[in-house]
Amino acid sequence: MRVAIIGAGFGGLCMAIRLELSGIADYTVFEKAGGLGGTWRDNSYPGAGCDIPSHLYSYSFEKYASWTRRYPEQPEILAYLDMCADKYGVRPKIRFDTEVRSARFDGRQWQVTTDDGTERFDAVVSSVGQLNRPAYPEIQGTESFAGVSFHSARWKHEHDLTGRRVAVIGNGSSAAQFIPRIQPLAERLDVFQRTPNWVIPKPDSAFGTATRLALHLVPGLQRVYREWIYRYAEGTLYPALARGWSANLLRKRALGHLHAQVADPALRAKLTPAFPVGCKRVVIDSSFYPALTRPNVEVVTDPIVRITPKGVETSQGLREADTIIYATGFRTTEFLQPIEFTGTGGRTLSDEWKDGAEAYLGISVPHFPNLFLLYGPNTNLGHNSIVFMIECQVRHVMACLPYLAERGPMEVRPEAMAAWRRQLGAAMERMVWGNGCQSWYKTAQGRVTNNWPGPTTLYRRLTALPPLPAYRLTSSA
Ligand code: NAP
Repeated sequence: MRVAIIGAGFGGLCMAIRLELSGIADYTVFEKAGGLGGTWRDNSYPGAGCDIPSHLYSYSFEKYASWTRRYPEQPEILAYLDMCADKYGVRPKIRFDTEVRSARFDGRQWQVTTDDGTERFDAVVSSVGQLNRPAYPEIQGTESFAGVSFHSARWKHEHDLTGRRVAVIGNGSSAAQFIPRIQPLAERLDVFQRTPNWVIPKPDSAFGTATRLALHLVPGLQRVYREWIYRYAEGTLYPALARGWSANLLRKRALGHLHAQVADPALRAKLTPAFPVGCKRVVIDSSFYPALTRPNVEVVTDPIVRITPKGVETSQGLREADTIIYATGFRTTEFLQPIEFTGTGGRTLSDEWKDGAEAYLGISVPHFPNLFLLYGPNTNLGHNSIVFMIECQVRHVMACLPYLAERGPMEVRPEAMAAWRRQLGAAMERMVWGNGCQSWYKTAQGRVTNNWPGPTTLYRRLTALPPLPAYRLTSSA
């Protein structure tokens, strides 16, 4: 059996490692960039890191006692992924600088086309991520800017910000991480905020020598610590997103954080969101607010009218800038774009998904046999580790592979997809994401296509069920 994996980030590497461990050696990982790591390769801005604790933001089969901090920073995550690729021997199977352009099911196999030509595979596992294509704002005049501009996920490290007038557009998790790092360098920093975010503290610190030694040496300690972080996220953060018992507590925690860190009532008012906590991704950071209170920083809430050669023009006039940083997020609802997937009967994924992406378990799409998605539609989380979800998905794919190897192409039944859609819709009603805010979790029409609306324990159970009842042989379609 030949398997193509698209993307060498957390998901693609996990899939490759599982195949390697189970003796399925004929696989290729197509990676469009020159290095592995996906989002953790692309997002190298100052202060980049993860707001999920290190010991949970890692594979369950490769627990890592050497994390230096409670919350990992980008270089350490990338080093971890590099270590995994080498330890499990998957690096030689990664074809770097090779972008998959299209994949077409020919009735038996997938024809995967890159700039180097077309190859056939029995199964395709797409692991291209949800946060991989930068979104640039549709503001008039962006090309006319005479200074230097870049997106947070395409940081220009060679561009020294010392003594510059810097404009940051956006105030999500990325901006919250790099603003405290660049504020001391910039002569002036204007933060253009369209909507304030809820912010809660990130209790980060370096592990002391004794803790690290204990995590290395005490049998089971790392497992128990990991389990504790997981249970905490599931037991207290998830209910807040499901409008449960902790929603008010989380709101109070965020308001308390704001009051503790921002003394100026006018700035506090600007920074107080008017939507329910969790509707947009909660920012988890302890140094963002203090940076905003520094004398060289201003939070600008006047709407942006256009970008001019000299800077950013708002409804109140021009704010000159030498550098503009777009912290404007990603094109999150355009799943798998721009790769063109063609399934049975000439159906294309972009057509099937014109009203929003959807997949059974977030993994399988009717009429697209032997195609599996990792971190696909409705599998993002606002409260726990995506690595957990990826491992559930990889386990499901591994359970499907023996069937398709023995019996030929298989695809999810449209009835199973319809039932899934109904259950997902019902679960989504409970969640806080639907009303009150616009976010990257949903399409312009308001359909939440990115997030998983249940506890992750439920997702684990569902993905662990024997796959067969939900699938059929493609020849019998
Ligand atoms: P984001 O959360 O989507 O934030 C984009 C920001 O840009 C928002 O403040 C948005 O304002 C603003 N914006 C977009 N278009 C604009 C326009 N035309 N004019 C003015 N403002 C505009 O993006 P992100 O900060 O890169 O984060 C994306 C996700 O990546 C996060 O939610 C998180 O899941 C993940 N992430 C995680 C970590 C971590 O620690 N784990 C760190 C960084 C990122 P509105 O709010 O008004 O739309």
